[in-house]
Amino acid sequence: MKNNIKAILYSSQAPSPAQEEKFRAFVSAKYGEDAEFSFVKDETIKKGFRLTAGSETYDWTDEGRLNQLKKEVLSLYSKDNVIPLIRETVKNWTPKALAEETGTVISVGDGIAKVTGLTKATYGEILIFESGVRGMVLNLKENELGCILFDDDNFVTEGSVVKRTERVAGIPVGDNFLGRIVNSLGSPIDGEGEIISSSYRPVESAAPSIVERQQVRVPMETGILAIDSMFPIGRGQRELIIGDRQTGKTAIALDTIINQKGKNCICIYVAIGAKASSVSSVVNMLKKHGAMDYTCVLAATASDPAPLLYIAPYAGCALAEYFMYQGKDVLIVYDDLSKHAVAYRSLSLLLGRSPGREAYPGDVFYLHSRLLERSARLSDELGGGSITALPVVETQSGDVAAYIPTNIISITDGQIFLESDLFYSGQRPAVNIGLSVSRVGGDAQLKAMKKSVKGLRLDLAQYREMKVFTQFASDLDEATRRQLAYGKGLMRLLCQKQASPYSLSEQIVIITMAQAHVLDGIRYEDIERFIKELLSRFHKNNESLLRRILSTGLLSDADKQLIIDESRKAASDFK
Ligand code: ATP
Ligand code: MG
Repeated sequence: MKNNIKAILYSSQAPSPAQEEKFRAFVSAKYGEDAEFSFVKDETIKKGFRLTAGSETYDWTDEGRLNQLKKEVLSLYSKDNVIPLIRETVKNWTPKALAEETGTVISVGDGIAKVTGLTKATYGEILIFESGVRGMVLNLKENELGCILFDDDNFVTEGSVVKRTERVAGIPVGDNFLGRIVNSLGSPIDGEGEIISSSYRPVESAAPSIVERQQVRVPMETGILAIDSMFPIGRGQRELIIGDRQTGKTAIALDTIINQKGKNCICIYVAIGAKASSVSSVVNMLKKHGAMDYTCVLAATASDPAPLLYIAPYAGCALAEYFMYQGKDVLIVYDDLSKHAVAYRSLSLLLGRSPGREAYPGDVFYLHSRLLERSARLSDELGGGSITALPVVETQSGDVAAYIPTNIISITDGQIFLESDLFYSGQRPAVNIGLSVSRVGGDAQLKAMKKSVKGLRLDLAQYREMKVFTQFASDLDEATRRQLAYGKGLMRLLCQKQASPYSLSEQIVIITMAQAHVLDGIRYEDIERFIKELLSRFHKNNESLLRRILSTGLLSDADKQLIIDESRKAASDFK
């Protein structure tokens, strides 16, 4: 089949015969002898002309030439020494009639535009619409592109022109983002003015390869006793926080961020689909504990269009990568990925992709695996930086076997499972010890901690079972009653208020003390007060012991005995 290119010249004046001859020669040289040439009068072009051939447009109007200059000047922004470069560029600038690919909007709605004509556009490329709205190509069909819009789709009309940018989506990054709240495109939304960025990173990028990584060996302390003791997290690990709504998922993530104060770790909190009011209370909490100084909050709230929710975690990860490749340690929280999956599902359905299980598209696993694979601990040659990821997933009535939870459980290196029943019975953080696990963090745990928690999980498991069996028994023998009281005391120890982290050495003291049955002499209601007094006593009398444990990472038998003796003394002095 012959596919003749039709070249159309738009201008306010018809070309002279000599000019027309030149155009014809150009068109046939460029698009072949068969190309057809015609002229259309266009009064809106004041000076110059516009030539379209197939999907390409040569803009030689005044406006087109000005746009070219604008583009050249803007492209200088990414370079250093902008002023001399601008001077140089303006001096040497001569406008050229460049080919620019343009397409047309076929339909628009629900934050999605279908575009035709851009035959060379690539997946993930950013397109610019006539009104300045930006969109990203997410669907490539034979004759049409599906594009998600980052701004209000009311500004995009059917039949309007679309241009390629030949750039993939990216966000500005830099140290100045710390302490700020930005949206998924990296623009500030805290009303504190412009953020001067240091560079620009694509939101999607390949995860570090195997040789670029090293083992996870440095602890990422959460400051939460129930987690650091039994489910230790290492820098570079991905640990899922999973549970029903209102079970303290966000609280664990925030406590971990607050605990990074003075630990040389940069934090990024990505809010996906949360209410603006929840984001604001997160920020207030971080500010109150001085954690905003080393934290950036990237928020795509429930009122934002789905495309912004979709790219939010990738954008947050791009910012994290900027720091990681400088050799820094980063903690990133994705709160939460179930809302992210829902946003992606609605985009996919609008783009006309076929729905699969639970109406999610077939590539929803890849959606999260490519995000979480980007967390890593880099090798020393690459600076040794790391990204630790704490994704959050919400379950429906504790159903961890639903599609998205199982996907993310299999991608991550462990999960902290939070349970409503525990939460409402007052056990907060409501960590379910039987269902939680950390698969790689054990290597990162201090030897001292490992030694002191030995047997703790078993004791707790025994307590749980015994509690079920003895629930209806009226008279228990003395041994069983003591065993129950011991287990109950341990559970009480694991309760911890929000934003009151324990250091690792404090945790070791608490666990060693409890396993020596020191709590037997303390009434249940007094446990919290006793722990407070015990710790302040250790800080006063045995600060060197605490420091020794942290610096060597070891707990010698003598130190262990010292802790037990001191705790017994504290218990007998306790009133
Ligand atoms: P959502 O599903 O709405 O995102 P969530 O699972 O993230 O909820 P949070 O918002 O973290 O839950 O916590 C729910 C409530 O429980 C909050 O009011 C919080 O203050 C309280 N809470 C969380 N952890 C604790 C804790 N350790 N001690 C006391 N209260 C807590
Ligand atoms: Mg939450």
